[in-house]
Amino acid sequence: MDATSAKQVGTAEEKAMYATSSTRTALAAPHDRYADLTDARLAAALCDEDDAEETGLNPHERTTCHVHRRWLHDCVSSPLHVIVVTGHRWCRRCECAVDVAVDELAGDVSLRCPKCREMPAGPANRQVVRACRASLAAAAEGRGHGAPWTLDVIARGRGEDR
Ligand SMILES: [Zn+2]
Ligand SMILES: [Zn+2]
Repeated sequence: MDATSAKQVGTAEEKAMYATSSTRTALAAPHDRYADLTDARLAAALCDEDDAEETGLNPHERTTCHVHRRWLHDCVSSPLHVIVVTGHRWCRRCECAVDVAVDELAGDVSLRCPKCREMPAGPANRQVVRACRASLAAAAEGRGHGAPWTLDVIARGRGEDR
Protein backbone atom coordinates (compact mmCIF):
# COMPACT_ATOMS: atom_id res chain seq x y z
CA MET A 1 0.00 0.00 0.00
CA ASP A 2 2.70 2.46 1.07
CA ALA A 3 4.88 1.41 -1.83
CA THR A 4 2.05 2.01 -4.30
CA SER A 5 1.25 5.49 -3.05
CA ALA A 6 4.95 6.37 -3.00
CA LYS A 7 5.21 5.23 -6.60
CA GLN A 8 2.22 7.36 -7.56
CA VAL A 9 3.85 10.42 -6.04
CA GLY A 10 7.02 9.60 -7.93
CA THR A 11 5.09 9.34 -11.17
CA ALA A 12 3.47 12.71 -10.67
CA GLU A 13 6.86 14.26 -10.03
CA GLU A 14 8.22 12.57 -13.10
CA LYS A 15 5.37 13.96 -15.16
CA ALA A 16 6.11 17.44 -13.87
CA MET A 17 9.78 16.99 -14.77
CA TYR A 18 8.94 15.77 -18.26
CA ALA A 19 6.64 18.72 -18.77
CA THR A 20 9.44 21.10 -17.78
CA SER A 21 12.07 19.40 -19.89
CA SER A 22 9.85 19.21 -22.98
CA THR A 23 9.17 22.93 -22.67
CA ARG A 24 12.93 23.52 -22.52
CA THR A 25 13.48 21.30 -25.54
CA ALA A 26 10.86 23.19 -27.53
CA LEU A 27 12.59 26.46 -26.77
CA ALA A 28 16.07 25.13 -27.53
CA ALA A 29 15.08 23.33 -30.72
CA PRO A 30 12.23 25.08 -32.54
CA HIS A 31 12.39 22.48 -35.32
CA ASP A 32 10.66 20.02 -32.98
CA ARG A 33 7.62 21.97 -34.09
CA TYR A 34 7.64 19.80 -37.21
CA ALA A 35 8.61 16.46 -35.63
CA ASP A 36 5.10 15.04 -36.00
CA LEU A 37 4.75 15.82 -39.71
CA THR A 38 4.52 12.66 -41.82
CA ASP A 39 5.96 14.35 -44.91
CA ALA A 40 9.69 14.41 -44.14
CA ARG A 41 10.45 16.55 -47.16
CA LEU A 42 7.93 19.16 -46.11
CA ALA A 43 9.33 19.15 -42.56
CA ALA A 44 12.85 19.65 -43.93
CA ALA A 45 11.71 22.49 -46.18
CA LEU A 46 9.95 24.16 -43.24
CA CYS A 47 13.12 23.93 -41.14
CA ASP A 48 15.28 25.28 -43.96
CA GLU A 49 12.99 28.22 -44.64
CA ASP A 50 12.58 29.04 -40.95
CA ASP A 51 16.36 29.25 -40.71
CA ALA A 52 16.67 31.20 -43.95
CA GLU A 53 14.07 33.68 -42.75
CA GLU A 54 16.15 34.34 -39.64
CA THR A 55 19.02 35.33 -41.90
CA GLY A 56 17.07 37.46 -44.33
CA LEU A 57 14.77 35.39 -46.55
CA ASN A 58 11.68 37.44 -47.34
CA PRO A 59 8.81 35.54 -45.65
CA HIS A 60 6.65 36.17 -48.72
CA GLU A 61 9.14 34.25 -50.87
CA ARG A 62 8.71 31.08 -48.79
CA THR A 63 7.33 27.92 -50.38
CA THR A 64 6.21 26.63 -46.98
CA CYS A 65 4.01 28.21 -44.34
CA HIS A 66 5.28 28.55 -40.79
CA VAL A 67 1.78 29.12 -39.40
CA HIS A 68 -0.06 26.24 -41.06
CA ARG A 69 2.98 23.94 -41.34
CA ARG A 70 2.11 23.13 -44.95
CA TRP A 71 3.26 23.82 -48.49
CA LEU A 72 2.16 27.31 -49.38
CA HIS A 73 -0.25 26.23 -52.12
CA ASP A 74 -2.04 24.01 -49.57
CA CYS A 75 -2.97 26.84 -47.22
CA VAL A 76 -2.77 30.01 -49.31
CA SER A 77 -6.59 30.01 -49.49
CA SER A 78 -6.74 30.61 -45.74
CA PRO A 79 -7.88 34.11 -44.72
CA LEU A 80 -4.57 34.40 -42.83
CA HIS A 81 -2.83 34.73 -46.19
CA VAL A 82 -4.78 37.86 -47.08
CA ILE A 83 -2.60 40.80 -46.04
CA VAL A 84 -4.38 44.06 -46.69
CA VAL A 85 -1.47 46.33 -45.81
CA THR A 86 0.98 44.76 -48.26
CA GLY A 87 -1.62 43.84 -50.87
CA HIS A 88 -1.05 40.08 -50.80
CA ARG A 89 -4.17 38.28 -52.04
CA TRP A 90 -5.95 41.61 -52.03
CA CYS A 91 -7.60 43.61 -54.81
CA ARG A 92 -7.00 47.26 -54.03
CA ARG A 93 -9.42 48.47 -56.67
CA CYS A 94 -12.35 46.53 -55.18
CA GLU A 95 -10.97 46.40 -51.64
CA CYS A 96 -11.65 42.72 -51.20
CA ALA A 97 -9.81 39.44 -50.70
CA VAL A 98 -8.88 37.57 -53.83
CA ASP A 99 -9.54 33.91 -54.64
CA VAL A 100 -6.71 31.50 -55.43
CA ALA A 101 -7.06 28.67 -57.93
CA VAL A 102 -4.42 25.95 -57.65
CA ASP A 103 -4.15 23.45 -60.49
CA GLU A 104 -1.92 20.72 -59.12
CA LEU A 105 -1.86 18.76 -62.38
CA ALA A 106 -0.84 21.67 -64.57
CA GLY A 107 1.33 23.12 -61.81
CA ASP A 108 -0.34 26.45 -62.21
CA VAL A 109 -1.70 29.01 -59.77
CA SER A 110 -3.88 31.98 -60.53
CA LEU A 111 -5.55 34.75 -58.59
CA ARG A 112 -8.93 36.19 -59.39
CA CYS A 113 -10.85 38.95 -57.73
CA PRO A 114 -14.44 37.85 -57.01
CA LYS A 115 -15.73 41.35 -57.80
CA CYS A 116 -13.88 42.58 -60.92
CA ARG A 117 -13.10 39.01 -62.09
CA GLU A 118 -9.55 39.98 -62.95
CA MET A 119 -6.07 39.07 -61.78
CA PRO A 120 -5.47 41.85 -59.25
CA ALA A 121 -2.55 44.14 -60.01
CA GLY A 122 0.48 44.74 -57.84
CA PRO A 123 3.82 43.13 -57.04
CA ALA A 124 2.47 41.47 -53.89
CA ASN A 125 -0.10 39.47 -55.85
CA ARG A 126 2.49 38.45 -58.43
CA GLN A 127 4.67 37.34 -55.54
CA VAL A 128 1.85 35.14 -54.18
CA VAL A 129 1.51 33.43 -57.56
CA ARG A 130 5.27 32.99 -57.89
CA ALA A 131 5.70 31.52 -54.41
CA CYS A 132 2.76 29.15 -54.87
CA ARG A 133 4.14 27.89 -58.18
CA ALA A 134 7.47 27.26 -56.51
CA SER A 135 5.78 25.41 -53.65
CA LEU A 136 3.81 23.26 -56.11
CA ALA A 137 7.03 22.43 -57.89
CA ALA A 138 8.84 21.59 -54.65
CA ALA A 139 6.01 19.36 -53.43
CA ALA A 140 5.73 17.58 -56.79
CA GLU A 141 9.46 16.98 -56.86
CA GLY A 142 9.16 15.31 -53.46
CA ARG A 143 6.48 12.95 -54.72
CA GLY A 144 8.71 11.94 -57.59
CA HIS A 145 6.57 13.58 -60.25
CA GLY A 146 9.17 14.79 -62.68
CA ALA A 147 6.59 17.05 -64.27
CA PRO A 148 7.98 18.84 -67.33
CA TRP A 149 6.77 22.20 -66.04
CA THR A 150 8.74 21.96 -62.79
CA LEU A 151 12.02 23.42 -64.00
CA ASP A 152 10.23 26.00 -66.11
CA VAL A 153 8.26 27.20 -63.08
CA ILE A 154 11.37 27.42 -60.92
CA ALA A 155 13.19 29.37 -63.63
CA ARG A 156 10.28 31.75 -64.07
CA GLY A 157 9.98 32.11 -60.31
CA ARG A 158 13.57 33.20 -60.02
CA GLY A 159 13.54 35.57 -62.97
CA GLU A 160 10.28 37.42 -62.43
CA ASP A 161 10.05 40.88 -60.88
CA ARG A 162 12.57 40.92 -58.09
ZN1 LIG B 1 -0.47 29.10 -44.34
ZN1 LIG C 1 -11.19 43.48 -57.95
